[in-house]
Amino acid sequence: MKVVLLGPPGSGKGTQSKFLVDKHQFVQLSTGDLLREKVASKDSSLGQEISKIMNNGDLVPDDIVIQLIVEKISELKNRNIIFDGFPRNLNQATVLDHSLKEILVSLDKAIFIDVNHEILKDRILTRINETNIEDRRPDDNIDTLLKRIEVYKSNTFPIVEYYKKKGILKEVNGMSSIENVSQQILKIIS
Ligand code: AMP
Repeated sequence: MKVVLLGPPGSGKGTQSKFLVDKHQFVQLSTGDLLREKVASKDSSLGQEISKIMNNGDLVPDDIVIQLIVEKISELKNRNIIFDGFPRNLNQATVLDHSLKEILVSLDKAIFIDVNHEILKDRILTRINETNIEDRRPDDNIDTLLKRIEVYKSNTFPIVEYYKKKGILKEVNGMSSIENVSQQILKIIS
């Protein structure tokens, strides 16, 4: 099964992906994690360029992200995959369709964690405050966060409509507890 998890920053995509990995034999493909690995490897000026873009809250150029993810998709093609943070715009969504088609699989579901945009800022501020300084991500700060929400609204949110038209969109209420959101997701994938 191949599933995309969609939702704004602070909607709990990472937490719910972890739940599916720990309890339901999924492998998580997070472009954010893949990009952070690239930055940490410090092997090139590319890493520095990516780091600047991420810390600014912008999207890393499609060609870089797509190259990272396409390699992983073919490696993991026989596994249950949860896509976390990819696709983030319509171009990436169509590339994902094509890449899966090439290996003769298709996307089963796109699960949209629907959260009221008004509460995102508070949620992320809580996450920042509850994380030790040394464990904080460089992009976990208020300026970057506000930018990420704007980028989400203009680039990523239109994907919801794209998957709705394809007939694979499932919505869950992201305003309830973590456990309740997990249960809603479980119902969709089982
Ligand atoms: P995340 O870990 O998913 O919150 O992503 C952190 C940052 O990595 C984002 O704010 C973007 O700068 C970058 N990023 C992650 N996934 C993508 C993607 N699919 N396309 C472009 N940039 C991405």
